[in-house]
Amino acid sequence: MSERPQAPRGTFDVLPDQAALRLAVERCARGALEAAGYQRIETPVFEDTDVFRRTVGESTDIVQKEMYTFEDAGGRSLTLRPEVTAPIVRAYIEHGMHKLPQPVKLWYLGPCFRYERAQAGRYRQFWQLGAEALGSDDPAVDAESILLLATILDELGVRGTRLRIASLGAPASRARYRELLQGHLRAHEDRLAAEVRARIDLNPLRAFDSDHPGTREVMASAPLLLDHLDAADAEHFAQVRELLDAAELPYEIDPTLVRGLDYYTRTVFELTSDALGAQSGVGGGGRYDGLAEQLGGAHVPGMGWAAGIERILLAAEERPVPAPICDLYVAVTGNVPGAGGPAAVAAFALAAEARRAGVPTQIELAGRSLKGQLKQAARLGARYVAIVADEGIELKDMQSAQQESVDSAGAVVAHVLRGRHA
Ligand code: ATP
Ligand code: MG
Repeated sequence: MSERPQAPRGTFDVLPDQAALRLAVERCARGALEAAGYQRIETPVFEDTDVFRRTVGESTDIVQKEMYTFEDAGGRSLTLRPEVTAPIVRAYIEHGMHKLPQPVKLWYLGPCFRYERAQAGRYRQFWQLGAEALGSDDPAVDAESILLLATILDELGVRGTRLRIASLGAPASRARYRELLQGHLRAHEDRLAAEVRARIDLNPLRAFDSDHPGTREVMASAPLLLDHLDAADAEHFAQVRELLDAAELPYEIDPTLVRGLDYYTRTVFELTSDALGAQSGVGGGGRYDGLAEQLGGAHVPGMGWAAGIERILLAAEERPVPAPICDLYVAVTGNVPGAGGPAAVAAFALAAEARRAGVPTQIELAGRSLKGQLKQAARLGARYVAIVADEGIELKDMQSAQQESVDSAGAVVAHVLRGRHA
């Protein structure tokens, strides 16, 4: 026998129970985001590879080793999206959204792809929920965005969350700071991990991320970007903090907060949960005032975040999923699968009529005996069962167990509707 195919490593099937939980997350997020003026956007699952190369950053893990990049039959280099911010900015430019009232506030939900070491909470296909506000550099945009994610996670019952924030400053102060940090790293080069040493030129900030003991010692005395912001950036960060304080949202300032994407400027933040193990990040984001220019557009300030649906569900309290409603089960007597006959046709027509009237209806599809059908109806929690025979229709009320003859399909539907509203 040949081997049976399985879902690829790092991917998973979303079975109905899980799908119901994910839908609950989507409903909650959508409610909060749309109430705050965010509108849904959907972009393609793949983009020109350049969209990510030019924005996420050549030196990042994502671009260096995590992208699913392929050439299509026309010889174009395409990439399954590892994140959705750059595609949304691409869409903003492409559709001239700068002509709309600013900021344009967009939210999304969809699959992302990263070639990573698969483990609990870390997959190769995962879903991101995200929100982006484009066209304003007002600190209130930053505070509103952060507050929205914190509120959504709270409403979803995500346990043990911790919010950390920082500012990376504008590119100019970042560049000056970078040189300072490189100087510090070079001065202590012999104590650094090899991979940190190799990245001094390319990405010195990542040194703050290292678990290597020697590197950690060196980083303890490293200069901090937060102490080297220029006046405008420091003022912007102070205003964001003031607004978060006004909204009574607790946070910690983490001067070593490093994000895995290069496009961030000014505010960055991350929400973690102790309910997760090593993969503690539930969501995060920040401001990206230079991203649109990196994609060949005009200067468009932006701020947003993304959160992983699977990690939200791992960190949230289990909530019971309500069973789907079944108001009417249509059974057939003398049932033989596929045999057809007038009763089976009448049953099908009755179910169609009931559904047109808005009654949640299920029909016998597996050729069960009448006893088996009643059992199945009970399992589904059906309120009524219509038993269709060649001679006519009987309607059974599953609560009172009373059964009566009904003279037409229309009468069954009217009866069920009355019962539902009673
Ligand atoms: P991590 O540090 O855990 O790798 P990240 O910084 O790479 O996370 P982001 O790029 O900020 O993550 O993506 C936002 C969110 O998307 C994360 O907080 C997480 O919830 C989710 N996420 C990222 N990568 C994965 C993955 N491989 N599997 C599942 N969820 C993921
Ligand atoms: Mg990552």
